[in-house]
Amino acid sequence: MAGEYDLVIVGSGTAAMVAAMRVSEEGWRVAVADFRPFGGTCALRGCDPKKMLVGGAEALDHVRRMHGRGVVGETAIDWPGLMAFKRSFTDPVPENHLQRYAAKGIDTFHGQARFVDHTRIAIGAETLTFRHALLACGAEPIPLGIQGEQHLMTNEGFLGLESLPHRIVLVGGGYIAAEFSHIAARAGSQVIVLQHAERMLKAFDPDLVGWLMEKFTALGIEVHTGTKVGAVERTNEGFKVHASSAQGPMSFDADLVVHAAGRAPALASLDLEAAGVAVANGRIQLNEYLQSMSNPAIYAAGDAAQVGPPLTPVSSHDAKVVAANMLKGNQRRPDYRGVPSVAFTIPPIAMVGLSEAEARKQGLKFRVKSQKVPDWFTARQAAEPTYGFKVLVDEATDRILGAHLVGPHVDEVINLFALAIRHDLTAADLKRTIFAYPTGASDVGYML
Ligand SMILES: Cc1cc2nc3c(=O)[nH]c(=O)nc-3n(C[C@H](O)[C@H](O)[C@H](O)COP(=O)(O)OP(=O)(O)OC[C@H]3O[C@@H](n4cnc5c(N)ncnc54)[C@H](O)[C@@H]3O)c2cc1C
Repeated sequence: MAGEYDLVIVGSGTAAMVAAMRVSEEGWRVAVADFRPFGGTCALRGCDPKKMLVGGAEALDHVRRMHGRGVVGETAIDWPGLMAFKRSFTDPVPENHLQRYAAKGIDTFHGQARFVDHTRIAIGAETLTFRHALLACGAEPIPLGIQGEQHLMTNEGFLGLESLPHRIVLVGGGYIAAEFSHIAARAGSQVIVLQHAERMLKAFDPDLVGWLMEKFTALGIEVHTGTKVGAVERTNEGFKVHASSAQGPMSFDADLVVHAAGRAPALASLDLEAAGVAVANGRIQLNEYLQSMSNPAIYAAGDAAQVGPPLTPVSSHDAKVVAANMLKGNQRRPDYRGVPSVAFTIPPIAMVGLSEAEARKQGLKFRVKSQKVPDWFTARQAAEPTYGFKVLVDEATDRILGAHLVGPHVDEVINLFALAIRHDLTAADLKRTIFAYPTGASDVGYML
């Protein structure tokens, strides 16, 4: 099968699938390569399997919240059963992807891709010649540079655990640490989060994160902020995590230590230098069309490019941009306005647009409406007191600058604010909209 291709794609995730389908429709000869099972991070090791585990944890949480409100009986997570449910989704993914590629006449290669020169790439024993190459190789956990780093398990390992260890330490404090800690705590583990920064979930509004942190406390998740992990040591009983904070050195015993401390483009094994692709600070040097600035035959999309936020819908958007630019010449630039972001804690926290700090930094004139609203019907009906919002509206145009939500259904409701931002709807437009009642959306008018 080795030979000449119009496009060789490194990676088989969302960006790869979207780009491959678009260019193959135009008759291009396409090859897709991955050294892992086909399907990419979101479907196999990220969003989807995580959300399936969150589903179990949510069900349990809802039952517990309804205790004393007409629901009785203890509920528990059967971890192997929940994992089997997860696998019912993830197991068929690689074969489905291979079949979709085959149906379009797209060749697939298993192996690590490495550039040979400006127009050739080796995948295992095969060498392919390309007119264009697309780096859709995603991201991988950043090296922490600490002693005992090899003892840390990544997202891939955690989402495949056949049994859940009792004592879990999560290193990092972003959305992966937040989500995994909520799943594991509900499934019965003792969870400790060690976060280098001064607060959890730095990408989200500090006030709303503060309200959400009450949930971490209620769940018994021990969160240590301002805490730097220095080493992980294997012991007879498991692991000892050595860390330090302003209070001095400390250590934590664990059966499992999870890397949740950030991800960066997976470029190390590609030998980009051989292809003349310039990289600075771990990022491919790309122009506004997501094209390599030093080798115009090569483009990048999604987590590998990290021009937009590292999220699945962004990988898909980038792939459409890149496919159009490869097919018709550079003409499309990515547009990341109104990309919503959700951490699937229970309840979830969500944001879209500018943070209050960013809006102030930009010198914008805006009004802010922010409130913690445990007494609103949405919160009371779900027996979930963690419910609140912060919405920024531009004074001059009445357009939504940013929306920040925490509580029941906000993972869905945030999309309404995203729609408003992306399509320049005003606060008045949203207020005039008639939403179904009682739903999370029916609160939108009161948030403005
Ligand atoms: C735990 C977790 C939870 C997440 N949850 C969400 C969420 O809820 N919502 C959301 O929008 N996003 C979420 N994300 C992010 C989302 O998964 C990514 O943004 C998205 O999957 C990136 O897609 P991609 O196509 O750019 O790359 P990927 O899907 O990562 O695909 C890249 C592929 O390239 C392969 N590869 C890498 N190097 C080589 C090489 N040299 N040769 C051959 N193959 C190679 C890799 O094996 C990989 O399969 C989550 C991520 C993680 C880790």
